[in-house]
Amino acid sequence: MENVWLACSQAEFKIHLVKLSIYFFPSFFSPLSTMRVCWLVSKDRACQRIKLPHLEMVMLGRGPETEITDKKCSRRQVQLKADCNKGYVQVKQIGVNPTSVDLVDIGKDQEIKLKPGQILHIVNNLYPYTVQFSEEMGACGGKETVEPKGGKRPQDELETGGMESMPGKHAKMEQMAPQVCDSSYSSSSVSSSGSSVNKKACLEYWAQGLKVSMQNPDMQVYKDEKAVVIKDKYPKARYHWLVLPWQSISTLSKVNQEHLELLEHMHALGEKVIQQCPEKDSLHFRLGYHAIPSMSQLHLHVISQDFDSPCFKTKKHWNSFTTEYFIDSKDLIAMVKKKGRVTVDKDVAKLLNLPLKCHVCKRQQPNIPQLKEHLKEHWPK
Ligand code: AMP
Ligand code: ZN
Repeated sequence: MENVWLACSQAEFKIHLVKLSIYFFPSFFSPLSTMRVCWLVSKDRACQRIKLPHLEMVMLGRGPETEITDKKCSRRQVQLKADCNKGYVQVKQIGVNPTSVDLVDIGKDQEIKLKPGQILHIVNNLYPYTVQFSEEMGACGGKETVEPKGGKRPQDELETGGMESMPGKHAKMEQMAPQVCDSSYSSSSVSSSGSSVNKKACLEYWAQGLKVSMQNPDMQVYKDEKAVVIKDKYPKARYHWLVLPWQSISTLSKVNQEHLELLEHMHALGEKVIQQCPEKDSLHFRLGYHAIPSMSQLHLHVISQDFDSPCFKTKKHWNSFTTEYFIDSKDLIAMVKKKGRVTVDKDVAKLLNLPLKCHVCKRQQPNIPQLKEHLKEHWPK
C-alpha cells in the first residue's frame, strides 16, 4: 500500500483514493464520484465549518450553526447560495444590521458575490468567515448542510464506542472523516455494531486523511521541496499545525538515522511558522510527536500551549499533548541519533487515561469543562 502514495501527482493521488475507497468500502461508496463542495469557514473558530450545498439556499444568522448569540444579528441575517461550478457564493443580506464582504456593506435585500480569499462578516463587521471550495469523494446523494456541531462528530462516536454514525450509504468523505487518532488512539475502542472488518478498514481508511490534507492548498501554510506545513483540521489550541514530509514515511517506527536531516528540517519549518504567528511573543509552543500516532504519514505537531479550542474535548486529547505521550521533537531527534530508531514504552497508551492535570501549575482538575475554565488563568493577559 505504501508506495501507492510515493511521488504521485495530485490527480493520481485522487485516483488512488478512489481505489482505496472501493477497496475498503465497496458497499458504502457505490457509486463513487468526486464532487466540488463549498464550505463556509469561521475565522474565529478554526473548526467551525458550515457546508453550503451546490445551488441550495442556506439561511444563517444567530443560532446554533454559527454559535452567534449577539442580538444585533438576526436569526435570518444572511442567505447564501454556493455555486460550486462557478466558484463563488451569492450572499444576500436579509437582516437589518449590515452584513459585509471585505468590509463593504451589502445593504438590506441586496446581493453580492463572495469568492475565496474574501471575508464575509455576518453582522456589524463581526463574525468573519471565508469560503472554501474543495474536492470531495463520496457516494452520490449525500446531503447535509451543516457539519455536526455541538453534537457528536464521528470521532466522538468512536470515543464513546459507538460507530452507528460512521459511514452510512450516503455519508461523504468529509463528514465521515473521523480523526481516528484524535479520538480513539487505538482501534480497540471501537464497539461492535456492524462488521468489525469494516470498522477496521474504516479506521485504516481515515488514517489516510493527512495525505489528502497535505495536498490541499487550502490547508497548506508553508511548503518547500522536503516538507509541508498544514493547519490541523481539528486544532486543539489557538495555533496547531502539522509538519509532514513529502517522502512517504508511514509512521514513527519507520524512522531511522537516514531521516535525521529530514527530522531536523521539519523541526526548523515548525519553528519558522511559529515565528510568523501574531501571538508568538505571548504564547508558548511545543513541537513534538504523539508516541502512537493514529494518522498515517509522519507528522510533527506544532501546538500553542493555551489549548483554547472547541476541538479540544476529551481527556485523551489533553493527555496526548501534556504527558510523555507527547515526545518533544528535539528529544525524538536525540533518540534517533543515539539508538537509530524511535522506541516507546509499551504502556505509553495508559498515559491517555491519567487524571487531568494542568500542564502549567500541575493542579488536578475534575473534568474537561473545569480544566478549560482553569486554563484561562494561564492565558496571556
Ligand atoms: P496523531 O496521529 O495522534 O499524532 O494526530 C493527528 C492529528 O491530525 C490530530 O491533531 C488531528 O486533529 C489531525 N487531523 C486528523 N484528520 C486530519 C485531516 N484530514 N487533515 C488535517 N488534520 C487532521
Ligand atoms: Zn494551572
